[in-house]
Amino acid sequence: MKLTQVRNATLKLEFGGTCFLIDPFFADVGTLPPFPNTPNSDRWNPMVPLPVSVDSLLNVDAVIVTHMHPDHFDESAVQAIPKEMPIFAQSEADASAMREKGFEHVGLLKKDMRIGDVVLHKTSGQHGKGEIGKQMGPVSGIVFHHPDEDTLYIAGDTIWCKDVEQAINTYQPDVIVVNGGAAQFLEGGLIIMGQADVLYVHEAAPSSTIVVSHMEAINHCLLTRAELRAFAVEKGLERTLLVPEDGETLIFLQDGLSPLEA
Ligand SMILES: [Zn+2]
Repeated sequence: MKLTQVRNATLKLEFGGTCFLIDPFFADVGTLPPFPNTPNSDRWNPMVPLPVSVDSLLNVDAVIVTHMHPDHFDESAVQAIPKEMPIFAQSEADASAMREKGFEHVGLLKKDMRIGDVVLHKTSGQHGKGEIGKQMGPVSGIVFHHPDEDTLYIAGDTIWCKDVEQAINTYQPDVIVVNGGAAQFLEGGLIIMGQADVLYVHEAAPSSTIVVSHMEAINHCLLTRAELRAFAVEKGLERTLLVPEDGETLIFLQDGLSPLEA
């Protein structure tokens, strides 16, 4: 498995002979207004550029969109991605929105499905607690299985919750990607994971490697990589909790070997 942290929640994944682009968010730096009612509301989004060219992200077999928030699937991505590219949505509502944008091969993520030789499982999550979670709407994650790969669970935009615990218990992932920038509005608490959530994930899956994404790219993500790395050291988790930079590729060899940087 070759996993590249692109920017925000955008990931490129080579897995079991298939190449996936996940949550494509291609906007140029500083071209989108801050999210409303958020901290740092003087910072325009995205706060950092893409580390690679858009073209280099398009040589994939399929695109997966965990949910339709604009920092996961934006107008620049809609423009750039060829309309004949297979693209997968979490729901019929999201799929029809994609068809309206001109995509010709829209598929639905399902509890059990296959793309190429890879078996995928759609998982659920909670994009915040209570009222704010409801307002954020439904979200999904995905588990990737292949006999020659470690099992990978990309949790998507979720806080620590029963859904995540259940996915870990059901699929026993070796590698877990969590969105850990502690995104928040002025009220209502975190809408993705912060340090405490990441620690809960580790406690639920102590032998899994955790990769933290969705950091330092949009205005209301307040947890920095430096803070999270310091937290990992404080907890003795610096080998378990990986916090890649944008553009960094992690290679995971099967059978419990340590991840190596490309
Ligand atoms: Zn979201």
